[in-house]
Amino acid sequence: MDYIELAMKKAKAGNCKSDTNFFQALEEVLVSIKPLIERHPEYTTQNIIDRVIVPNRSIYFKIEWLDDSNNIQVNHGYRIQFNNALGPYKGGVRFHPSVNPDILKFLAFEQIFKNAITGLHIGGSKGGSDFDPKCKSDEEVMKFCQAFMTSFYHSIGEDIDILGGDIGVGAREVGYLFGQYKKLTNTNDSIITSKPLSLGGSLARNEATGYGLIYFTQKLLQDKGETLKGKVCVVSGSGNVAIHAIEKLYDKGAIPVTCSDSKGTIYDRNGIDLALLKKLKIKQRVSLKNYMAESKTAIYVKKSDYKNNSSHVWEIPCYAAFPCATQNELDKAGAKALISNGVKIVSEGANMPTRPDAVDLFVANKVLFGPAKAANAGGVAVSVIEMGQNSSLTYLSFKQVDKRLQGIMSDIYKDIKVICDKYDLGDDFVSGANILGFQRVADAMIMQGV
Ligand code: NDP
Repeated sequence: MDYIELAMKKAKAGNCKSDTNFFQALEEVLVSIKPLIERHPEYTTQNIIDRVIVPNRSIYFKIEWLDDSNNIQVNHGYRIQFNNALGPYKGGVRFHPSVNPDILKFLAFEQIFKNAITGLHIGGSKGGSDFDPKCKSDEEVMKFCQAFMTSFYHSIGEDIDILGGDIGVGAREVGYLFGQYKKLTNTNDSIITSKPLSLGGSLARNEATGYGLIYFTQKLLQDKGETLKGKVCVVSGSGNVAIHAIEKLYDKGAIPVTCSDSKGTIYDRNGIDLALLKKLKIKQRVSLKNYMAESKTAIYVKKSDYKNNSSHVWEIPCYAAFPCATQNELDKAGAKALISNGVKIVSEGANMPTRPDAVDLFVANKVLFGPAKAANAGGVAVSVIEMGQNSSLTYLSFKQVDKRLQGIMSDIYKDIKVICDKYDLGDDFVSGANILGFQRVADAMIMQGV
């Protein structure tokens, strides 16, 4: 058994046997860094894998808050401060009923390498709660956010661990979390990013993940002499990442024809009505089903009518597919449907949205594949730009931030390409991204001693 197999076996035999999402993420990284480990014996002598795959610190806390009927509610809160070899921990906060320690551990683990890939000096963390902001009043969301922050504010800081948004945590939640931190500490420290502009947020942060996804995809296509112009694209999700991916696709002359939420899928053959989507999902926070009332061309397929467990989105013929909702949303059946309809590229907006057997199928069928760690890194990159603006009290225009985002996404692609060439990986950008991120973290750890 080699060093990598041994490390995986040891991790699986540990005390977190139910961490299925984490092991999925771990296996993908460990399998792909094999050539790196072979060329660098110091990683084995320094036992770097065992040291990278265990979080530095996992914080669990109870959150008690009063609902609108004055009943006391209890939720679970978590923060996984996984690795800070490259800089302060940095990672989003997710509020969703599915949140558990396994999901946050996988997200924090992915975040380490994603952050490293950007070339910026930040470590990786993730946090959240099983609280569901849906169907809650603004006041309930505020009270919950205040209680969440009160429970663990002493564990974060602008040089320690910086929070951000994720599923269920948008400008409203970020504002309440930041407000409570300021009250508790009497500081204005930038402990959270994706802030509303009036609280010191950055222009273009809201758009950054979705825009960055399309910039990265374009770079990948450009190398093959292809472009998104005039191409039919499918997008899953209808949150921050999906909406801004759709917006940028239009900007590049593509035709995004789908979006989805947890209840169903919209297929609009003429292209998704972006203004309507924003109204429903940002302003009104309602189900996509309501799209039908204002569209003559759209088709709505509810989740219970999907052909497979995955999503109806993958059944629609397209040139490019962008999974932008959640983890494991694109399975083997979805991949088969996309391939049989001639998909040419799949690029991940969400974190780990594609199941490993689906990734294998894309690779086997020569479908270009942009992995999340690289393709959706634009969000965290602009978060760091936001932190820089806060500390220098100098603010950039939308155009300036967008230009820097384009530069960062282009550099990410170039850096991964160098690794792919160096290790003869061809178009295996999954391995290229994992090697790039892992090497940066491992080297920083070794330099700092045990
Ligand atoms: P949002 O909360 O804004 O949107 C999430 C979208 O996904 C919604 O349309 C939601 O549907 C749908 N969704 C959530 N859970 C499920 C599920 N179990 N099944 C089907 N659909 C689901 O989140 P974001 O757009 O911010 O995040 C989307 C993904 O992108 C996540 O994986 C996140 O980790 C990742 N990401 C986000 C970044 C950011 O900057 N926001 C940065 C990098 C990655 P509904 O409306 O019904 O809830």
